[in-house]
Amino acid sequence: MADPNSRSGTTYLTPAIDAFVQGVYVAETPGMLDSVRAGQAAGLPAIQVSPNDGKVLEVLLRLIGARKVIEVGTLAGYSAQWIVRALPADGHLWTVERDPTHAEVSRGVLDRAGIGHRVTILTGAARDRLESLTEEGPFDAVFIDADKGGYAHYARWALEHLRSGGLVIGDNVYLFGYLAERDADDRTDADEIRAMREFHEFLARECEGVVLPTPDGLSVAIKP
Ligand code: SAH
Ligand code: MG
Repeated sequence: MADPNSRSGTTYLTPAIDAFVQGVYVAETPGMLDSVRAGQAAGLPAIQVSPNDGKVLEVLLRLIGARKVIEVGTLAGYSAQWIVRALPADGHLWTVERDPTHAEVSRGVLDRAGIGHRVTILTGAARDRLESLTEEGPFDAVFIDADKGGYAHYARWALEHLRSGGLVIGDNVYLFGYLAERDADDRTDADEIRAMREFHEFLARECEGVVLPTPDGLSVAIKP
């Protein structure tokens, strides 16, 4: 059947379809629900990945047999749990979080979920803390989900510290809908738009990459 709409970017995804698919394929663990509750109780913003996007992360990491993963932006340890699910028993996640309260909430959540020993939480700005992880590499994947102005920097760091065949995964790469905004220079978020475009152009140039059209875009790029 001819389908010009979906070929040119129009999506058939609706909240109802999303809910149906999620209901069929995706089961959140008690630890994930605890993360959402604990984050809310501590006044954290509820900006964790969706259950569906969490499952996408898990499947991607399983596909490449990931064992050592880095996350930028922990929040309350929700996506961290999807990542750990994909790892073998000796796998490890290092996750960087700037806000000490977020890090503390995550620590409790991951410990209660029984996976605290598989996750190192580094508190501080990712630009600084990533440097301290150089020794632990090379890594199988880097999941970027923090300050959008830092994405291009994190992607460059990732390519230097991933194994060949490793993945750079980025969340919110449609930049909440602003990625292709035309008068980008006049906007207050002009720097973020520029940085996110630079992130895409860099990955497209250096890797085999693509953006999965999740509601806010999830980029996946394979390091050569
Ligand atoms: N990955 C999480 C959501 C992360 S939300 C999940 O899906 O469950 C983004 C997080 O990045 C917030 O907790 C915020 O405090 C943190 N953050 C923002 N800027 C940062 C920076 N420069 N370095 C490290 N963490 C940062
Ligand atoms: Mg996100």
